[in-house]
Amino acid sequence: MLVPPPYRAPAPALRRLYEALYNAYGPQSWWPADTRLEVVVGAYLTQNTSWLAVERALENLRARGVLSLDGLRRIPEGELQLLIRPSGYMIRKSSSIKAFISFLDLMHEGSLERLAAVPAPVARRQLLARPGGGEETADAILLYALDHPAMVADEYLRRIAFRHGLAPEGAKYAQLQALAGAAFAGEDPDTYISLAKEFHALVVVVGKNHCRKQPACGGCPLEHLLEHNRKKRPADTAAPRRTSRRGKRATPSHAL
Ligand code: SF4
Repeated sequence: MLVPPPYRAPAPALRRLYEALYNAYGPQSWWPADTRLEVVVGAYLTQNTSWLAVERALENLRARGVLSLDGLRRIPEGELQLLIRPSGYMIRKSSSIKAFISFLDLMHEGSLERLAAVPAPVARRQLLARPGGGEETADAILLYALDHPAMVADEYLRRIAFRHGLAPEGAKYAQLQALAGAAFAGEDPDTYISLAKEFHALVVVVGKNHCRKQPACGGCPLEHLLEHNRKKRPADTAAPRRTSRRGKRATPSHAL
């Protein structure tokens, strides 16, 4: 597959991309959760499934009265598996959630606030060392549950960055993360965190509504930013399908 020519300055290009998305979709106010713990549990449950399935699993946990640190400590793993079954991969995910609770108890006195007080690079290393703790999950927890200045680089961002000539098709997670982070460099930490939260949410919205495996560039809020690459655009963006301009509000999930 052809790799589109890179912009001279990918960070400003990504910033323009963010601004276009924000103007089109508005603030997303992510993560859709009431507590830090719900963000953590949701981040593990959303791996390889839709947010609708995650909501069903979360509702089961809530109805059983175990969507709390104490509840997740005391519930037998077999029962936890049954409750989160709607989100799929119940054995792996229940093990990840249990391992996270054990880690929190052992390393941070069972307190998410104490974990949030740990420097971001240390907390990230600790999260990555947990079972089921991939980079995207770890960064989602850092950003949305712990309010650290992390950047989430998901499959949608990979597609958009490639299709807009900002990164090669096989860009590594760290490369995409650095690219997106550079778009907001220079902001004060609180603003950076807010922008990073909105950016990931908006990328998911446009990814779900337009930048799927087969992109629907027609009506996409980023279509005008694709224009200058039109002649050399990769084959998979050459025949956009028309879709509605405004999509439904998206929720965290992997790219479809
Ligand atoms: S659907 Fe097309 S215009 Fe929209 S983000 Fe993807 S490549 Fe860009």
